Amino acid sequence: MTLKRVLLERIAHSGPMTVADYMQDCLLHPEHGYYAKHEPFGAKGDFITAPEISQMFGELLGLSLAQSWLDQGRPTPFTLAELGPGRGTLMADMLRATRGVSGFLEAAQIVLLEASPRLREVQAKALADFAPKWINDTSELPDRPLFLVANEFFDALPIRQFLRSGTGWSERMIGASDSDDLMFGLGTETPQPALEHRLGDTKDGDLVELCEAAPRIIQDIATRIAQHGGAALVIDYGDWRSLGDTLQALQAHAPVDLLDDPGRADLTAHVDFEVIAGSAAIAKCRHSRLTPQGVFLERLGITARAQSLAKELGGAQLDALISAHRRLTHPEEMGNLFKVLGLFPPQATPPPGLEP
Ligand code: SAH
Repeated sequence: MTLKRVLLERIAHSGPMTVADYMQDCLLHPEHGYYAKHEPFGAKGDFITAPEISQMFGELLGLSLAQSWLDQGRPTPFTLAELGPGRGTLMADMLRATRGVSGFLEAAQIVLLEASPRLREVQAKALADFAPKWINDTSELPDRPLFLVANEFFDALPIRQFLRSGTGWSERMIGASDSDDLMFGLGTETPQPALEHRLGDTKDGDLVELCEAAPRIIQDIATRIAQHGGAALVIDYGDWRSLGDTLQALQAHAPVDLLDDPGRADLTAHVDFEVIAGSAAIAKCRHSRLTPQGVFLERLGITARAQSLAKELGGAQLDALISAHRRLTHPEEMGNLFKVLGLFPPQATPPPGLEP
């Protein structure tokens, strides 16, 4: 049975589903979910992420966190965590780059939040030398200093979508058509207290997205950082506030229909960094300015790192390095679309690459 059949039968039984429930099943259904079944990353996959483009990305993130650790007086022991580590490439690059930071790796316990059993196996192989521990939920993060990265994790969290009408909102739902296909529809109009702050910047007919899972995840992280020290780097595509439909399905590096073949394509939505910053503030954590990825990587010295790697390379490898540097930093590539938000304790300075 395909995931489409599973969902159509559920809709026949219990009525239309929210976009969030649809996303959850498409990505993480134990049998048919995208991350459970497919190898999404790389040239042969459906999309490519920054750490898979170049080792420089993970190296610079690792050094930024390690400098924060030094600046905060080398708290020991501490948790070095990643949310949604994919193939484990980013963490492996961070660990290699920080080998020279005296005491850092000895004091670190590696903790990974990963929902897909298949990807956990891939991560176990990539990080075999470091005895990582996996958790199912951020509430399981140890109560100790926490240094954390999350790259393209929050964009995979399910979002609900609402259409403004008057001071109420109609939720975008997924139901079944007469020809037994999945189709979008609208629920009845109701007030949405969680969207109160969007009444000022939207008008009738505007679509707004709501990620209900993000605030609690951020509060779990921010509480530990505020109380015990540490820092978090959240990198994703999106902006302070998103407006309009940003949900997209990608397959083989090209957009595809959202409802055609559930579980086969990667689904993501833009991240609202305002929600992340606000949730961190509730937990008494400070946040940096929202910084374009290109600016962040340039401040951390990506050009010097690329030049030093270039010395050993020639021909196609050198071309690949030059193009990777451009892809990660250029405003017309990932440099501006992707943003970085840093979280840090009230008494500390932001991680290098970010301004308060
Ligand atoms: N950070 C990696 C992978 C990004 S893809 C990179 O930059 O290459 C998203 C990752 O988050 C995958 O590892 C996916 O399995 C994981 N993921 C998605 N939703 C999740 C959830 N709700 N809980 C835990 N992990 C999740």
